[in-house]
Amino acid sequence: MNVVVIGAGIMGTTFAALAKEMAPDIDITILERLDSVGEGNSSAFNNAGTGHEANCELNYTPVDEEVISVEKALKIHAQFNVAKQYWAYLVKQGVIEDPRTFINQTKHCTIVPSQAIELLKLRHREMSAHHFFEQMRYSEDFDEIKRWIPYTMEERPRHEKMAATVVETGTDINFGALTSQIATHLVRNLGVTIEDGIHVKRAHRSPSGSWLVEAFRHGELVQYKADVLFVGAGGGAFPLLKKSHLPFRSRYAGFPVGGRFLQAEISEEEAKHYTAKTYGKAKVGAPPMSVPHLDLRVVDGRHYLLFGPFASFNPILEKGRGFTDYLRALRVHDIPSLLSVAMEHFPLVKYLLSESFKGSQSMFEELDQFAPGMSKKFDWKPIQAGQRVQIIKDGDLQMGTEIVVSEDKTYGTLLGASPGASVSPEVMLRCLEQMLPSVCETEEAQQKRKEMFPEDDLDTLINNPERYRAIRDEVNKQLGIVSSDQSD
Ligand SMILES: Cc1cc2nc3c(=O)[nH]c(=O)nc-3n(C[C@H](O)[C@H](O)[C@H](O)COP(=O)(O)OP(=O)(O)OC[C@H]3O[C@@H](n4cnc5c(N)ncnc54)[C@H](O)[C@@H]3O)c2cc1C
Repeated sequence: MNVVVIGAGIMGTTFAALAKEMAPDIDITILERLDSVGEGNSSAFNNAGTGHEANCELNYTPVDEEVISVEKALKIHAQFNVAKQYWAYLVKQGVIEDPRTFINQTKHCTIVPSQAIELLKLRHREMSAHHFFEQMRYSEDFDEIKRWIPYTMEERPRHEKMAATVVETGTDINFGALTSQIATHLVRNLGVTIEDGIHVKRAHRSPSGSWLVEAFRHGELVQYKADVLFVGAGGGAFPLLKKSHLPFRSRYAGFPVGGRFLQAEISEEEAKHYTAKTYGKAKVGAPPMSVPHLDLRVVDGRHYLLFGPFASFNPILEKGRGFTDYLRALRVHDIPSLLSVAMEHFPLVKYLLSESFKGSQSMFEELDQFAPGMSKKFDWKPIQAGQRVQIIKDGDLQMGTEIVVSEDKTYGTLLGASPGASVSPEVMLRCLEQMLPSVCETEEAQQKRKEMFPEDDLDTLINNPERYRAIRDEVNKQLGIVSSDQSD
């Protein structure tokens, strides 16, 4: 079987790696538009690098009339645990020699002002009762919060009442570095071909039933044939779906959301002083992906603070691509969907437009509200983040991701943006199950799967504390993540 993957980000490379591990006989070619792998949204500073496991993001635990829903948080935490199993496998196999090249332990904290203290208390009570979050601690004590996350408290007046939670075993992840290491493994050990500098323009069925992929390399047309096609092209997946002639293509359109961060390089000493990712509460009207957070980032052995994201309206498919690519991807049938979303979500559109014109001064003011005095402490500069293209499906705006697979299972694509990279091995495993069921069912494939994922059943992880704890402790050991009760 001949498989073509479009896009060499964390999704495309993980898809190829899992498929090839389970079915070594498949031929896989990855086609990438850019000159190297992992340079799209997966690149270190195009995203925030949070290993999302619902420790600190309030938007994963919505509250309705004082009733908190933790289902989404449990699912994301379980998916992240499955993701860590695969990364621990790569470390155990020696594919990744040093886990610190891509994953580094940081505290995951949430901080809120007085008006949201009851909400955080409720969240802590509900979540810490579950084995996933049994290590979460809560405090309203000024000095204790200052010890956890000094930069958010050092210059805050003592009379300002705050509350915070902390989970010590959170992570910062350089998904770009992880993608590169998986790509090297694909080429060196698994026999996958990766061709970069190839911009796929369209893929359509040939009369023989296989997919004909038309692409350009330095302006020259090149063609590939595939029995099965997986499109892991980020925002670039939308135009390819539109041109696929698949019947469900008209149900989907893309809603682009751009973003910026404030970034400051800091010393190793300063990084030791603030080893945390601290999430706050989103402003009223702000989309979930613009929850403010102040993060320690570790990239190529250097340390940075990142604050943001500042979401914006930016009608492009991917960072670095032009507005006309986005326009060309639209079809007449998309216009009613876009108009209905613009009307129904008018406050969101207004918010994104106003944020687009925000200058550095306003960004610094927001930073100082979050962590008083921080704007003066370091040399901050605004940087352009990656581009999210959210899904509009049947006229409804959605914030998550969706795997879309054709009825005959020969075309699969991942649309949407969140929670994304953190759960990529789990999401790609489900994608493989849908697209290549016969390949996944052989005895050899099942055996390999158990090696890579000792426990990938989310319900078991959610409902069986002993099984979960055993897996968690084992993978954390492989990945260099230590909880305080293990450190003595
Ligand atoms: C501002 C921001 C913050 C984020 N923060 C986090 C976070 O903290 N934690 C987290 O887990 N996730 C986060 N994400 C989401 C995360 O970045 C994505 O889920 C993840 O990178 C998606 O991986 P991908 O492989 O699908 O996309 P990409 O990494 O973008 O890869 C897609 C690849 O396809 C290529 N491509 C596109 N079109 C074509 C074409 N026509 N032909 C050939 N190649 C093509 C692109 O060049 C690109 O390399 C964030 C995203 C953004 C934008």
